[in-house]
Amino acid sequence: MIMSLLGFPGKFFKGFFPGFLKTSEKKKVQPAFTKHEFGRNFSWGVAISAFQTEGAWNTDNKGPSIWDVFTQRRKTIKNGDNAMTAVDFYNRYESDIGLIRKMHFNAFRFSLSWPRIIPEGTGSINARGTDYYHRVIDACLENGIEPWITLYHWDLPQALEDKGGWTNRDIIDRFANYADVCTRTFGDKVKKWMILNEPMSFTGLGYYTGYHAPGRKGLRNFLPAAHHAALCQSEGGRIARYNVDNAFIGTTFSFSHIKPVEKSERHIKAAERLDALLNRFFLEPALGLGYPFDTLPALRKIEKYVKPGDASRLAFDFDFYGVQYYFRLISAFSPVPPVLFAREIPAEKRGVLLNQMGFEVYPKGLYKILKKLSQYPQIKNMVITESGVCFEDRLKNGRIPDMQRQEYLMKTQEYTLKAIRKGMPVSGYFVWSLTDNFEWSEGFDPRFGLVYIDYHDLQRYLKDSGVWFGEFLTE
Ligand code: BGC
Repeated sequence: MIMSLLGFPGKFFKGFFPGFLKTSEKKKVQPAFTKHEFGRNFSWGVAISAFQTEGAWNTDNKGPSIWDVFTQRRKTIKNGDNAMTAVDFYNRYESDIGLIRKMHFNAFRFSLSWPRIIPEGTGSINARGTDYYHRVIDACLENGIEPWITLYHWDLPQALEDKGGWTNRDIIDRFANYADVCTRTFGDKVKKWMILNEPMSFTGLGYYTGYHAPGRKGLRNFLPAAHHAALCQSEGGRIARYNVDNAFIGTTFSFSHIKPVEKSERHIKAAERLDALLNRFFLEPALGLGYPFDTLPALRKIEKYVKPGDASRLAFDFDFYGVQYYFRLISAFSPVPPVLFAREIPAEKRGVLLNQMGFEVYPKGLYKILKKLSQYPQIKNMVITESGVCFEDRLKNGRIPDMQRQEYLMKTQEYTLKAIRKGMPVSGYFVWSLTDNFEWSEGFDPRFGLVYIDYHDLQRYLKDSGVWFGEFLTE
C-alpha cells in the first residue's frame, strides 16, 4: 500500500515488509558444473563497500559522510544501529583479505570513502586516507587478489551535502575532482574501476523516499540528484579512461526482473513503466539512448535540470556494465498516481520463498536480466558485480549451516553459465558480500556474508557457503 501511494516499488521499501523464512533442510547440494566452464579469465570475487564495513568513522582525519550524520544524529536506523565501528574492516583488512584468499577468490571489489580521501569533499587530500587504501590494495596484490575499486558507494562527504549534495550541479565538478584524485593516485596498481554503485538506489532512496541518507524527499530533490548522478557516471568514466593505462572501466546498476501480474495491456504497460524507472533510467543515457521518456513521459520533468550539451555528456562507452540483481517484482496497473501508475504485488502475499528482508528469492531473474541486457548492441561485456542473499544465519558450535545461501549462489552461477553458453558476454561474478555488514537503514540484522560476524566481539566465522565456495574454486 505504501508503495502505491508513493509510487516507488521494491527496493525502495526494503524492510517495510516483515520477513519470514521457509526453511529448507535439504542435504548438501553440489553444482553440476565446474569453475573452468566459465573460462580461464573469468573473475571470481567478493564485494564490500567502505561505509558498510570500515568503521573508523572519524579516524585518521576522515571527514563525516552523509551516512555518519544520518545514522548518528538522526538515529533512524533499525534497532538504533550505527556504523561507527561497522565490522572494523579498517583495522582488520589484512586478515579479511586473508579470508578472501582462503576461499580462493581472485578478485575483491571494495569502494573508496570519499570523505576519507577528501574530508571536505573538495580541497585538500588526506594523506592518511590515501595511505590506508594503498595498504589495502597492496594486501590484495600480495595475496594474488585483483582489486576492483568502486569510486562512489553512497557515502557523500557531509560538507557537500550541506551545499545541496547531489541536487547541486556543482557536484559534477566536485565528483570529477575526486575521480581524478583517485584514479591518478591508485591507477598504477588498480586497473578495474567502477564509477557509481547503483545510482537509482542512492538517488531514489536518498532523495525521493528519504529512507536512506541524506533523508531528502520528493521529485524536486530526486530529479536534479538523478540527472547530476547520471552526468557524474559518464564523466567519471572519461576521467578514469584518461588517467589509467589499460583500464577496464565499468559502473554498476541495480536491476530487478519485473513481471506483469497478468498479460493484459494495462498490466504490461505498467510493468514497462516500472522497468523504465528501475532498470533503464541510468543505463540508457550511458548507452547514448537518453532517458526513457518514451515509456515514462512523467520523467520529462527532469529536462528542467538539463543544460545544453548534457545530452551527449551523458553517454560513455563503458568497458563493462555491472549487474546487481537481488529479486523479482510482480507488478500491476494502479490507478493511483504519481509518476508510475503501477504497484508491486508484495512477495509476502504470493507465498514464495522470502529472504530476510522480505524479497522473493528468485535466482532465475538473473538470467532474465542478462538476456535483456545482451539485447543492447552497445553492451559488450557484463560483470555480475553483486549477487547475494540474506538469511537469518545462526552460529552453532562454531559453524553456520547456511544451505539456503549456498543453493542460491549455486543457482545464480548456473544461470550465469547458461548465459555464457548462449553467447552472452559475462566475464565475472562477485558475491555480495565478503562478511556480514551494516545493511544501511536495516542496520546489522540482514546477513549477506560468506563470513559470519559475531557482533559481540566482531569475530569472523566462515559460513558453510564460504567453505563450499572455497572448495568450488579450488577444483
Ligand atoms: C548495495 C549494497 C547492499 C546490497 C544488499 C546493493 O544494492 O549495493 O550496498 O548491501 O544491495 O541490499
